[in-house]
Amino acid sequence: MTPLIALSDLKRGIGLVVSVAPGLTVCQSLVVLFQAVLPLAGLYLTKSIVDAVVAPETAVLPVGVLLTAAALVALATVCIRETGGVLQERQSHRLGDRVFNLLHRQAAGVNLACLEQPEYHDAFHQALSEGPYRPARILGGLFDVLRNGVLLAGMTGFLFLFQWEVAALLPAAVLFPAIVRWRYARRQFDLRKKTTGTERRAGYYHWLLTSPEAAREVRLLDLFSFLSGRFNRYRQTVCRQRMALAGRQAVATTLMRAVGIAITFGCFALMARNAMSGTASVGEFVMLMQAFHRGAGALDGIFSGAAELHENRLFLSALFRFLDLPGESPDAPGPTDVPDLSRSTIAFENVSFTYPGTRRPVLQKVSFTLCPGDIVAIVGPNGAGKSTLIKLLCRLYEPDAGRILVDGRNIRHFDLKTWRRQIGVVFQDYIHYHFTVADNIRVGDIRLDEKDPRIAEAARHTGANLVSNALPHGIHTLLGRTFEGGCDLSEGQWQKIALARALVKDAGLMVLDEPTSALDADTEHHIFTRFRELTAKRSTLLISHRFSTVRMADRILVLQNARILEAGNHNELIRMRGRYSEMYSKQAGMYI
Ligand code: ATP
Repeated sequence: MTPLIALSDLKRGIGLVVSVAPGLTVCQSLVVLFQAVLPLAGLYLTKSIVDAVVAPETAVLPVGVLLTAAALVALATVCIRETGGVLQERQSHRLGDRVFNLLHRQAAGVNLACLEQPEYHDAFHQALSEGPYRPARILGGLFDVLRNGVLLAGMTGFLFLFQWEVAALLPAAVLFPAIVRWRYARRQFDLRKKTTGTERRAGYYHWLLTSPEAAREVRLLDLFSFLSGRFNRYRQTVCRQRMALAGRQAVATTLMRAVGIAITFGCFALMARNAMSGTASVGEFVMLMQAFHRGAGALDGIFSGAAELHENRLFLSALFRFLDLPGESPDAPGPTDVPDLSRSTIAFENVSFTYPGTRRPVLQKVSFTLCPGDIVAIVGPNGAGKSTLIKLLCRLYEPDAGRILVDGRNIRHFDLKTWRRQIGVVFQDYIHYHFTVADNIRVGDIRLDEKDPRIAEAARHTGANLVSNALPHGIHTLLGRTFEGGCDLSEGQWQKIALARALVKDAGLMVLDEPTSALDADTEHHIFTRFRELTAKRSTLLISHRFSTVRMADRILVLQNARILEAGNHNELIRMRGRYSEMYSKQAGMYI
């Protein structure tokens, strides 16, 4: 990393902290200033007290007054320290919230191709584990350096005035341990980076051991020892490496501290010699000892603060690298409005696609047309590329070649959010939101009000109302077992709710990926006898392995080996006696 990037990360980190709470930052700066000045006053008072005790006749003020002043300084020091602590705590919380918001926004908007790479997860892990608290520590570190700088200047001034050679030796007493800390800051960071993958693996086994999703299989397959063994192995690998580095750092720090201690006590000997020979007063001797001690502490604080700043900056750079990952495909310059999809012709034109990081093309020169109001079904074996086709249509990925057109206009030219608002989707692996039934449906169009009648209407269309009627609080029942009072559903019941979620949106295009795979025969019949009515004002793209569903489509595409093999309606394809007819006969044969 070049010093320029390092500096810009530091600037960005400080900018982040200041922008979150400018007022708090100013207050903290004042606290730091007081914290630096008060010890100087305390030190001078100590000297004055000792001298007044030894020679009361030459004292400027009585011992009692000096003692009271010293007590007030001590009290002020405590008050300032506690105030500083509270301010810092408040700022850390605000900053943590802001960094979490930034991380969530980035994770929710990052390019999908990027999201699926292991490097993304490593970067996210690093950013999440260190990101929320490192920026606060950057500012804390800077304040420490500032406070200690002022303190050091004052203490060195005292020492120079009374015994310059001791002042000259002061840096040597603390320099060597600081060098060790600086060097190990980089090594700690590099080790963290190196072990991120292993830590994530341990995290995965932890998830398997503890998540409700995996609980049934873990018990039935008696996987505890296997999973726990792997978890421990990964944890131990990380722990061993960390301990080895910590051990090396401890040895190096101890050696360097020993050098520092020797220099410190050498300086004390010089001060004692002056006091014993009468060159300095006892008060001066006490003051110089304290000044040296505090000066060394301040310089140590500066070196440590700088090393910590360096360390925090390294971790912060991981956060910023994550925040700088590319977002979803930007709209073409000057995005145009999306036409009403229920009245538009959607055409795939020679679309080819290969997933990033893989070599096998999933789609090759795929072309077909979806006319307004039509239901087009896509069938084909597992892995044929059916869901991928939908992902391209939803612009989760961009085609490598070819175009997807709406009334002749490339969908890349539409505003991404508006484009997606026009599509009602049920994915194969839709989410079971642990929200109420109403909210599960409402998230299909989050702009709807909670009480919008369209929510109940969509539930009625897909039979989700029958599911909610049987629940303790009807449509307001919380689903899932994650939270108190939640009820779980069968897969088919969840699917009815997911279908309602897609229907609640006033979308011109419906995209359904295996929407009925878990529905019972009655429900499937109920939904599809009304499907025409439900989708009368919309165009529909449907993926299904169930031929009872597929056969009612206006057009059926058979996708195999990345290409469209056959196209036509059910009767035409049966007459063709090709792949569709073969698949249909096989499935029908299973019921005879
Ligand atoms: P199914 O009928 O099993 O749902 P499908 O026809 O919908 O299958 P797709 O999900 O489109 O098939 O997958 C097509 C191919 O693309 C598969 O070989 C799959 O392994 C691969 N694939 C899917 N998603 C990704 C991804 N995110 N990254 C890399 N390859 C992927």
